[in-house]
Amino acid sequence: MAASRQAAMFRLPPLPTIGEIIKLFKLKAEKQLSQNFLLDLRLTDKIVRKAGSLKDAHVCEVGPGPGGITRSILNAGVAEVLLIEKDPRFIPGLQMLSDAAPGKVRIVHGDILTYNKLGKAFPEHLMKNWEDDPPDIHIIGNLPFSVSTPLIIKWLENISKRDGPFRYGRTQMTLTFQKEVGEVDVTVIHFTPLVQPKIEQPFKLVEKVVRTVFQFRRKYCHQSVRVLFPEAERLEKAEQLLKLADVDPILRPTQLSMFHFKSLCDVYRKMCDEDPKLFTYNYRDELTEKRNRKRSRFCKTKDDVI
Ligand code: SAM
Repeated sequence: MAASRQAAMFRLPPLPTIGEIIKLFKLKAEKQLSQNFLLDLRLTDKIVRKAGSLKDAHVCEVGPGPGGITRSILNAGVAEVLLIEKDPRFIPGLQMLSDAAPGKVRIVHGDILTYNKLGKAFPEHLMKNWEDDPPDIHIIGNLPFSVSTPLIIKWLENISKRDGPFRYGRTQMTLTFQKEVGEVDVTVIHFTPLVQPKIEQPFKLVEKVVRTVFQFRRKYCHQSVRVLFPEAERLEKAEQLLKLADVDPILRPTQLSMFHFKSLCDVYRKMCDEDPKLFTYNYRDELTEKRNRKRSRFCKTKDDVI
């Protein structure tokens, strides 16, 4: 009780503002790296509140930069925050925060897309069964789209295997998304993994179907699902897939519901079971092969001429 009251009352000692830290360490936002910083503590507090109560929680913040969100996380009374930052320029400023909150900040200079120690990053006693309430572990981050998109795909795969940060249970994530660099409006999305997935198929299969359908996002879905199949049987198999899945061929990808995707994945799975080569079939490999064949034919003709 006394410990939790102490945690709730935790307040960082007076520190330079984020603006001053940026000046002190000459932390110019690199536009090529889609960097931009949140300086307003009221805004960072608001983002952090979306995660729910963080009192005594263990948090991993991805891409802390100069540490605006980090301050709000610390002020929320967390037990510990693990910071993973790729750009070495930010490490000294983050170290300053760590000194101001002894024992509460761990800093990793690394790339979250390749960092593979999140499955061991938190105390083992926090581990929960998948079906239980989520563990007291949160991931928070304000990353550029170019990083958050592959990261979410990686974490979705982790969720399906219950490994990485989801080895501890249904770890929650609070992530911000910005449409463009420098745009002030940020959307904050809070994710909690479901106990039961909506589509009970292997992750790689679901990813293949969803990625294929969305690759021509303005076209009708009958045009995109075709490329799930080799050229020789493309039209016939695509028609069969849509018919069995009961999906109207002239819906566009964004008009498809979760139920449609489930149905497409279930039928595609059956088709792959009947023809195991189908799952490894990749439309892009076929295109490259075709292009290479064309090129080698062209080269032969040229050699002949020479
Ligand atoms: N969180 C800070 C804020 O809100 O002010 C900075 C946000 S800035 C949009 C993104 C931050 O993520 C930068 O500090 C950048 O260096 C870092 N970053 C980008 N890619 C990363 C990656 N793959 N792994 C870890 N950090 C990354």
